[in-house]
Amino acid sequence: MTENLTGESHRPGRIEVVCGSMFSGKTEELIRRMKRAKFAKQKVEIFKPAIDTRFSEEDVVSHDQNVIHSTPIDSSGSILLLASDIDVVGIDEAQFLDDGLVDVCNQLANRGVRVIIAGLDMDYKGAPFGPIPALCAIADEVTKVHAICVKCGSLAYVSHRLVNNDHRVMLGEKEEYEPLCRDCYQKAIKEEKINHE
Ligand SMILES: [Zn+2]
Repeated sequence: MTENLTGESHRPGRIEVVCGSMFSGKTEELIRRMKRAKFAKQKVEIFKPAIDTRFSEEDVVSHDQNVIHSTPIDSSGSILLLASDIDVVGIDEAQFLDDGLVDVCNQLANRGVRVIIAGLDMDYKGAPFGPIPALCAIADEVTKVHAICVKCGSLAYVSHRLVNNDHRVMLGEKEEYEPLCRDCYQKAIKEEKINHE
């Protein structure tokens, strides 16, 4: 509704979080919002942790020619240095950034920047992931997006890891995860325990 009332050009500084499991369309929603801002002649840029190498180095790949420039960063503090003349700052895969991101986003919003953050809300064990929970707390607006459970078709809640690996930060191929609803996730965990005994 806010979109219709104010358009894209005169939004004050604010923090928006788009979170959810894998396959939930977080990045698509981030890009949608960034594109609308770009159409409104806003200066936009997406930052993402350098750890995320699935996309091309420089640009967030969207499926048409309207590519939005993206910059890989090593720490949240770099955003303050690099975003000095940007109207709308997008941050993708924010769960991999440090906790300093919370303060960085507040500083940006306080000086009039619109900040849009996309990230995983939970890791593959269902635990809150990185700075995302704190960002949800300080955000002006939180959008939780959902994938579809591959077992039953309900709304998914977590990205269940299919391979046996305990590292929390595991990037890579999406074949290694499946979106599951709470019910199906509980069943899958029980089965795994039985198989390991
Ligand atoms: Zn299910």
